[in-house]
Amino acid sequence: MGLPSHARVVIIGGGIVGCSVAYHLAKRGCTDVLLLERRQLTCGTTWHAAGLVGQLRATHNLTRLAQYTTQLYEGLERETGQATGFRQVGSIAVAASKARFEELRRGASMARCFGLEVQLLSPGEARERWPLLSIEDVVGAVYLPKDGRTNPVDTTQALARGARNAGVRIAENVKVTAIRSAHGRVTGVATEQGEVRADAVVNCAGMWGREVGALAGVSVPLHAAEHFYIVTEPIAGLSPDLPILRDADACSYFKEDTGKLLVGWFEPRAKPWAENGIPADSAFEQLPADLAHIEPLFAGAMRRVPVLESTGVQVFFNGPESFTPDDRYLLGEAPELRGFYVAAGFNSIGIQSAGGAGKVLADWIVDGHAPSDLWDVDIRRCAPFQRNRRYLRDRTVEALGLLYAMHWPFRQPETARGVRKSVLHDRLAAAGACFGEVAGFERANWFGAPGSAPHYEYSYGRQNWFEFSAAEHRAVRERVGLFDQSSFAKFVLKGRDAAAVLGRMCANDIDVPVGGIVYTQWLNERGGIEADLTVTREAHDSYLMVSSCATQTRDFDFLCRAIPAGAAAAAVDVSSAYAVLGLMGPESRALLATLTDADLSTAAFPFGTSQIIDLGYARVRASRITYVGELGYELYVPAEFAQSVYDVLVSAGKSFGLQLAGYHALNSLRMEKAYRHWGHDIGEEDTPLEAGLQFAVAWNKPGGFVGLEALLAQREAGARRRLVAIALNDVDRLLYHNEPIWRNGVLVGKISSGMFGHTIGTALGLGYLANGGAPVSVEWIAAGNYEVEVAAERVPARVSLRPFYDPASERVKR
Ligand SMILES: Cc1cc2nc3c(=O)[nH]c(=O)nc-3n(C[C@H](O)[C@H](O)[C@H](O)COP(=O)(O)OP(=O)(O)OC[C@H]3O[C@@H](n4cnc5c(N)ncnc54)[C@H](O)[C@@H]3O)c2cc1C
Repeated sequence: MGLPSHARVVIIGGGIVGCSVAYHLAKRGCTDVLLLERRQLTCGTTWHAAGLVGQLRATHNLTRLAQYTTQLYEGLERETGQATGFRQVGSIAVAASKARFEELRRGASMARCFGLEVQLLSPGEARERWPLLSIEDVVGAVYLPKDGRTNPVDTTQALARGARNAGVRIAENVKVTAIRSAHGRVTGVATEQGEVRADAVVNCAGMWGREVGALAGVSVPLHAAEHFYIVTEPIAGLSPDLPILRDADACSYFKEDTGKLLVGWFEPRAKPWAENGIPADSAFEQLPADLAHIEPLFAGAMRRVPVLESTGVQVFFNGPESFTPDDRYLLGEAPELRGFYVAAGFNSIGIQSAGGAGKVLADWIVDGHAPSDLWDVDIRRCAPFQRNRRYLRDRTVEALGLLYAMHWPFRQPETARGVRKSVLHDRLAAAGACFGEVAGFERANWFGAPGSAPHYEYSYGRQNWFEFSAAEHRAVRERVGLFDQSSFAKFVLKGRDAAAVLGRMCANDIDVPVGGIVYTQWLNERGGIEADLTVTREAHDSYLMVSSCATQTRDFDFLCRAIPAGAAAAAVDVSSAYAVLGLMGPESRALLATLTDADLSTAAFPFGTSQIIDLGYARVRASRITYVGELGYELYVPAEFAQSVYDVLVSAGKSFGLQLAGYHALNSLRMEKAYRHWGHDIGEEDTPLEAGLQFAVAWNKPGGFVGLEALLAQREAGARRRLVAIALNDVDRLLYHNEPIWRNGVLVGKISSGMFGHTIGTALGLGYLANGGAPVSVEWIAAGNYEVEVAAERVPARVSLRPFYDPASERVKR
């Protein structure tokens, strides 16, 4: 078939993901679609997948997508006439340690909260369902009856057939060699067989995704790794309905496969593959079996399933799959190029993710926005440096194994560290900082003893840093603490139209006098919160915006998109230009006063304002604002001045009991004040009314703002869910996220973020409550008896619409 000269959407890659995107575009009525595959459908990674289709993911929305995949595969054969091999056999995960069982039980609570069927099993019950299991060291197990398995090749062909039946064109043996664009928008592709113009192009090129992205100047951080399984000789009596078995402690999974067992692994040290680029002729790739590599893994699998000791192996399989730095796939429109979408980097769960990912990406392309909060997998979470090959190769060594490793709270990656550092990094390290990483940025999470080399000792209980962090927290509440917050994202919008452009974006009124700071959200048309930031008016025609490190790419992209063509306003990302020091606590003013002649009195320098002041020998922007709920200043210091400013602060701070403090203390402090965190407590599906942020909405400002109509409608109808602060009555239990919230014995919500509050003295959380679709009133909230489910046990809790600490914010404003 000759290629058409134009298609509305061109999809690059005919693996299961590309075929699913094509299928779902057709379902949405978008049939002018051309899928280009350089060789044959499924020839990349898809053909050799084991075909496990699990449903429980780390977040509600990703679980919903995986659930949808299962439903889709279940009906695909009926719809298309193409067999898929899908079978809903269920899955069992066994725990060989108490900690692992806690992880499984926390997962079971989460599953319940997400509406998945789940059962806790005793070791004996697990063996009843999986007779070949050795349970000597098994502490417990979890059973998910709706999990399944499928044949990846047949399922892909079924999706392709469904797409073709609806009018999608699929061309094999056509390689895309270039991406065409003009004025920041994609315009088409070049292939070995000619040019095709397109309104949208979708990169579903699997492990080639980084290279295809590079053709368009788009960063797609993924790297291939070798991935191993074996298939045994036939084993007598194996039922085709045997559930999938996972033993994460032995890095192993087990699946019945036509009377044999398929046993695969997620080993702690993986083997990155093709670091100089995927070979051009690679198709149906099978890599050499590395017996030395899998031997210790095999030994672990044999301990769990002893019949393997006496069973021969028919197939030693080793095939490549792509992994991302954080083990989450990459989805959505690329910030670098309009109309260029990505669905790649599936971290060994591409078969079970393809249905849901294909559906939401099709919606995204057709509707112009994501259909739900997909932040966990949104490609805009990535920092541009993350396409660096060496970084990806080194991280991949660890990334594969992390899928089955303990998912400890606060767990930090160990590979490819030290990439992005604050200019104060070495000083903090010498002072005993233990660093965590966000988008490659090293940030002090807590401080051990000066000169020590502190490290994490993980558990589900109080970890080894608990008391260190508690001391930092108390210092901020009682004296003064110093945080290095240099990782903040910082943007400047400058120009004659800056106030008008930003005024339209911000729900709050930013047309304030020079030096004013405004806390605000950027909303979408549906009233959902796209970004949470502070805006400081630096000059009549210039604004400084500050948001978080994790959202730097996303927020800057959002800002740039919002500037209308022809507007006299230019946006610049100045994140790297400034260090930020948070000087926080009741003594912060007195300490700062020893280093500046500026008048720091509340009359001259009230809360919510910002001034450029002398500090030591430098000039810095001091902003009276806080994320911890105390009197305090964020100091914006040009990077080359940061060390001298830090030194004078630390030196002068001695007589005030200044304490260096890290992000764990910051989190504890903000939780007591119920300050929201974008990405956890607020996101694009939550409105300011639901999130309790109506105080930051300027309902009547001239010209309105994006999202106002949706908010007005919601205000009229009453919010159906509301964010509350929650405190556990049992001070020994800890909250992290996604724990179910029960009201009078009915499931009404889940924890969006949790942390121990050292001043309140118990674990705190934030979470949305829903009243079965009816408006959530203050009376309804007050009338409930609450419990939070922690690791499958319900713990009584109290709930409040106001923060537990200083609800009137008197300490902040004094
Ligand atoms: C051993 C192993 C076991 C696995 N087990 C499971 C499992 O049990 N469950 C599960 O969910 N997942 C599993 N996976 C992962 C799963 O196989 C992948 O995540 C999934 O197949 C990825 O699909 P894809 O469509 O993104 O990529 P691919 O299948 O690799 O498709 C990408 C396609 O793009 C094409 N392409 C590349 N460049 C171009 C170009 N320039 N022009 C045109 N076409 C191009 C390629 O030829 C290829 O066909 C496993 C993986 C491995 C290796």
